[in-house]
Amino acid sequence: MPERWEAVIGLEVHAQLLTETKLFCACATRFGEEPNRNVCPVCLGLPGALPVLNRHAVELAVRAARAVGCALHDLSVFARKNYFYPDLPKGYQISQYERPLATGGHLEFEGEGGRKRAGITRIHMEEDAGKNVHGVGGDSLVDLNRAGTPLIEIVGEPDLRSGAEAAAYLRALRDVLVFLGVNDGNLEEGSFRCDANVSVRQVGDAKLGTRAEIKNVNSFRFVQRAIELEVARQVAILESGGRVVQETRGFDHDAGRTYSLRSKEEAHDYRYFPDPDLPPLVLDPALKGGELPELPAAKRARYQALGLTPQAAQVLTGHPGIARFFERTLALGASPVSAANLIQTEVLRDAKLHGLDAELGVTPEQVAELLRLTEAGTISGKQAKEVFVAVAGTSRMPSAVVEERGLRVVSDEGQLLPLCQKLVAENPKQVEQVRAGKKSMLGFFVGQVMKQTGGAADPKLVSALLERLIAEEKT
Ligand code: ADP
Ligand code: MG
Ligand code: ZN
Repeated sequence: MPERWEAVIGLEVHAQLLTETKLFCACATRFGEEPNRNVCPVCLGLPGALPVLNRHAVELAVRAARAVGCALHDLSVFARKNYFYPDLPKGYQISQYERPLATGGHLEFEGEGGRKRAGITRIHMEEDAGKNVHGVGGDSLVDLNRAGTPLIEIVGEPDLRSGAEAAAYLRALRDVLVFLGVNDGNLEEGSFRCDANVSVRQVGDAKLGTRAEIKNVNSFRFVQRAIELEVARQVAILESGGRVVQETRGFDHDAGRTYSLRSKEEAHDYRYFPDPDLPPLVLDPALKGGELPELPAAKRARYQALGLTPQAAQVLTGHPGIARFFERTLALGASPVSAANLIQTEVLRDAKLHGLDAELGVTPEQVAELLRLTEAGTISGKQAKEVFVAVAGTSRMPSAVVEERGLRVVSDEGQLLPLCQKLVAENPKQVEQVRAGKKSMLGFFVGQVMKQTGGAADPKLVSALLERLIAEEKT
């Protein structure tokens, strides 16, 4: 891209709130159920059915707004956004428009050139639409399980300057919401979605260029790619003297291009008006205070202060389940660096992460005990791996495995060899008997080593060392 152009990006993120039930009815929000199972007169939009606001959804939305430093509004208003689409049975979506829940926050994230801060215009609450399922035996069907699911929309300022920066912002926002317990961060299942508004302007221009809005790109990598392609497209148009048209575009990853979907609708097209079925949302003051969960950036800083590398801190804050595991292991007395190492290598190898669930195969109790045994020198690092495999997926404790397998060993040859040499030198008569074929006499030597090491030596290794020494003495 010629140097004189600058990309300008603002993201609109829709994040599903982790409630059990929908925003205005008692239907379950569970994903992946049989189509049209979780529906009722309210979310089907049947005449006469009245919405009732889900308090937990408000709590979660408030938590998100506080975490990104938004000003909360004591009074906000639900509005009807009117449009027709088969997945919207009421003919309107309940959202917030003129009076949103919260405005004026920001998000800090690690950008390309270090720490960066991007503004957040507003956060409002709204309900999700259903889903059109195309191509079922040549037909299109509608699944309304998702209709009425609570969302927050987080509207970002046009503060981002590249596809990579937009992806970094999005990752940071996802991590914040996930650590807050507000959202499960699942892009593939659509519980965290993003529309990217993209324009370009000449460097130094204060005025924003005409934007295109790219709809629902469902991975961080694709967001970056879609933005880069769109920026290149707009620059090419402007370079050749053309004009960018304001429109809504889709992204075709395989073809490596964005394409026009429709001309951009304007707010007045939606005929917004306050929903007469819902009273204004007056915030319970109790929701505005209280401590927020520790956010990933603060966690990373704290882990580094404990001696972890930035990379280790990054890995351990990659998922709240991993961070929780690490912190419980520390609480059980493990030292941070060795706990971090073991978690990054053994524990995460078979980890299954899904949404907010982390299936790690072992417990912090098992890991803390294993580290204790290793650090006390009771077992070697190699044995620790064996013990780890033995306890993984079971409720057994490492000490039991160590006991059962006789792993309380000194398997260090450098430590055992001098003991064996001394014994051989001091007992020439017994050495002769071994050489004469009295195999049982070898047991005498092994027994002596075991005695002298308080039962800690590896008998197999001792026996091999002795046999070698005795054979060597002969030649
Ligand atoms: P809507 O897209 O619903 O009409 P807005 O007009 O408020 O709503 O714009 C929403 C998003 O578009 C915001 O994230 C904002 O930062 C971004 N945006 C607005 N104008 C531009 C622009 N010229 N270039 C890039 N992003 C923009
Ligand atoms: Mg928009
Ligand atoms: Zn319902």
